[in-house]
Amino acid sequence: MFDLLVIGGGITGCGVARDAAMRGLRVILVERDDFASGTSGRSSRLVHGGIRYLEHGQLHLVHESIRERQTLLRIAPHLVKPLAFTWPIYEGARVGKLKLRAGLFVYDLMAAGRSRGHFSLDAASTLEQEPSLRPERLKAGAVYYDAATDDARLTLANALAARHHGAVIVNHASVKSMSRDGFAGIRATVVRESSSEEVRARVAVNATGIWQNDFSSDTRADRLRGSKGTHIAVPRERVGNREALTLISPVDGRVMFCLPAGAHTIIGTTDTWTTESPEDVRASEGDVRYLLRSANHYFPSAGLSDSDVVSAWAGIRPLASGRKSANPTSISREHSISVDDLGVINVTGGKLTTYRSMAEEVVNTAEKALDRKPRRSPTDWVLLPGGEREVGVTKLQNGNPDLAALLIPGFPYTGADLVYAVKEEMAATLSDLLIRRTHLAFETRDHGIEASARAAEIVAPLLGWGEDVKRARLRAYRSDVERMFTILPG
Ligand code: FAD
Repeated sequence: MFDLLVIGGGITGCGVARDAAMRGLRVILVERDDFASGTSGRSSRLVHGGIRYLEHGQLHLVHESIRERQTLLRIAPHLVKPLAFTWPIYEGARVGKLKLRAGLFVYDLMAAGRSRGHFSLDAASTLEQEPSLRPERLKAGAVYYDAATDDARLTLANALAARHHGAVIVNHASVKSMSRDGFAGIRATVVRESSSEEVRARVAVNATGIWQNDFSSDTRADRLRGSKGTHIAVPRERVGNREALTLISPVDGRVMFCLPAGAHTIIGTTDTWTTESPEDVRASEGDVRYLLRSANHYFPSAGLSDSDVVSAWAGIRPLASGRKSANPTSISREHSISVDDLGVINVTGGKLTTYRSMAEEVVNTAEKALDRKPRRSPTDWVLLPGGEREVGVTKLQNGNPDLAALLIPGFPYTGADLVYAVKEEMAATLSDLLIRRTHLAFETRDHGIEASARAAEIVAPLLGWGEDVKRARLRAYRSDVERMFTILPG
């Protein structure tokens, strides 16, 4: 019998599992697909205070996010890196010079000197900072600091940390149903491939994000709505941005980002209500048009068109909102925690950035349900794992020079990265390897299809795949890629 069953291996579930295991609870986490295969692997990859939330008066969220940004920079320096953002100000912009400066002043104040402060620019120095910006009507600008991460790896690091502290962590298995187990707790049916088993736990946490209503008997969960966010990746040399930019879309006045990602610039995101199935959500032609049009407004010499789009993908933000008419951008990204009739703790909303503090609150609630006095969680000072990966990969390359060869020329992934991911990082499918342990699927126009055959050859002996299984795995990869990266007409 476990103390805690965590359903869902996104950033929320993995954060909860790490926290609970570090407090000494007996924990099992079950993830239906792979860690970060849902919303957590489709974010803007920012660990940020959320400067735009200041406009909506969400001071508490900004304060919490800035504090968590600093915590993550400290406990995961290998995964969370400072990133400079330039915010150009044009004549007639919705956010003018004074408003931006006041906002950045408050932003810095909330960081209480623990982060590099912003600085203001005139038009000429804004162009020096980002020379490919449109010069006409540029009035001024500012540079401020947030942080960037690898969302899938941040999620994985929490899963591995939980496992290190004694939790049972299972991917590619799903919770199909739950019922009360007398007074003892909860009984869940967990299905993996064709087999199923009963898991008993005293308390359960539903961290299934946008899938939450599949289980919850909590009427508050009915208010969960999905907002779709699309990103596109284009060659960075076409845009010419040096670092990150925060921009106001000329289409609808929303805040958007252009983010450096190796040889690419990631442009995002949209924010529209959706009822699309979270398994199949993908970018639409309309989303891509919106992002290209917005980027071209600021980088006119790029003249970006559909043919520049290397990849496009979408994720769904689970937002807690009862207001059908509300604009999704105005809905708070704060989380809510509630306990349903079955005694399951449901956690809704939140951000990648605030996952650690959210997990702390969820585990406090779980400890109370277990009749234990909540203990102080050490998650804010113990380092997250993953810093040792590079050494492990190099050792594999030194032991077998074949594993040092690049999978695809021009991309920094070798066979050793895949072997390491299978041996140390619970990767079990080609999608785990090419979408989340590496990001080849996001970075290549064929979404890693060409590399998948070589990847299958490398990992087949480790995963016990014969010829038939290998072919089936390649077909499954192709289908995952089609589901995630094909652009919907319209
Ligand atoms: P998910 O990551 O969706 O995890 C839920 C998991 O539950 C899934 O992996 C799913 O497979 C699993 N599951 C479902 N049903 C079952 C079952 N029956 N059994 C077992 N497992 C199950 N936040 C930031 O801080 N910074 C950003 O830059 C940022 N950008 C974003 C951009 C976009 C476009 C979007 C959509 C969101 C962004 N966010 C960002 C928000 C952030 O990504 C989400 O708040 C966060 O990832 C939600 O994580 P989660 O664990 O709650 O959900």
